[in-house]
Amino acid sequence: MRILVISDVHANLVALEAVLAAAEGEWERVWFLGDLVGYGPNPNECVERLRALDPLALSGNHDWAVLGKLDTEDFNSEARHAVYWTRRVLSEENRLYLESLAPRRVEERFTLAHASPRHPVWEYILDLPTALDNFGYFDTPYCLVGHSHVPLLFVLDEAANELNYFAVGHGDAVSLDQHRFILNPGGVGQPRDGDPRAAYALLDDETLQWEFRRVAYDVAETQRRMRELKMPRRLIERLEHGL
Ligand code: ZN
Repeated sequence: MRILVISDVHANLVALEAVLAAAEGEWERVWFLGDLVGYGPNPNECVERLRALDPLALSGNHDWAVLGKLDTEDFNSEARHAVYWTRRVLSEENRLYLESLAPRRVEERFTLAHASPRHPVWEYILDLPTALDNFGYFDTPYCLVGHSHVPLLFVLDEAANELNYFAVGHGDAVSLDQHRFILNPGGVGQPRDGDPRAAYALLDDETLQWEFRRVAYDVAETQRRMRELKMPRRLIERLEHGL
């Protein structure tokens, strides 16, 4: 089966639509790794658009904060503002949908976790020591994570006792058959690797091919919607820098 793997939409409908248009016809199932809301201007529209795709979906730390399941004390002031605003506008039906999602699940050979398999709602896997620890917290060969909004892969060659890390860009592909992997498709709605384009990945769980993709979206349109809602300026500006 061909799977569209996306994460961290963060209420950015324009970016989500761009990804769905770019990947049209290339997948049968969507796997979503969490943080559907928070930061962006279209939380209800994003929940409804994703839900209509009948995805296998996780919740993330921002979803949890909006649901009141996570203290916002660790959030910076802009993120906290987004959480409170989202709480006010989110419909009850969409809130219940987010409530129904877990931050971690296992799907055959893949463990899916929003942040990390060890701490599914708050740990960032961005370096080798953290990745190495986390390989001890899932039993499947592969783990898919989001949360950092940075597309990357960690590959563990158990026979050679060697762990490697790769930052990846559009079109980079990898065959998953030899080793164990932790993979992050990057963020759809708020990329943070210096590339403002929305990030996603395509996975074939039979041939075990994984491909990283980027697609430009109308950042200015998302920013216009955020300005109209008087959202924090830093959240608006970071989108054009991809940081
Ligand atoms: Zn996120």
